[in-house]
Amino acid sequence: MTIFEKIINKEIPASIVYEDESVLAFNDIAPQAPTHVLFIHKLSKTKNVSEMMKNHPEQIQDLFNAITSFAKENNFEDGYRVVTNQGKSGGQTVFYTHFHFLAGASLGRFGK
Ligand code: 5GP
Repeated sequence: MTIFEKIINKEIPASIVYEDESVLAFNDIAPQAPTHVLFIHKLSKTKNVSEMMKNHPEQIQDLFNAITSFAKENNFEDGYRVVTNQGKSGGQTVFYTHFHFLAGASLGRFGK
């Protein structure tokens, strides 16, 4: 089981900042921006976004619905970044599909 499934099951704590029936979002333990939130789907059985796109594209829609709601509720509509790392070469370390939401700083074009 991945660390994110343990967070869904409440086996380990997380600072939850958004939740709806499908999606859970919590602060990243090692933030790379003033706001750094991880969005995961509660029903995901996929390791990465390409598996999710193939098997459960509706979950990507659920995730982006949550992301846009979170941005609106927290007044980030002026700007934020959504990132997904796929595979070891893409920098992925937790193999449970997730999106990083970064905001609260002037973000460089591809860096922090
Ligand atoms: P990835 O590297 O797979 O794209 O992203 C995994 C993210 O999960 C990293 O940014 C890392 O800091 C975060 N992370 C790893 N373990 C934990 C944890 O136990 N709690 C929280 N909140 N974040 C974690």
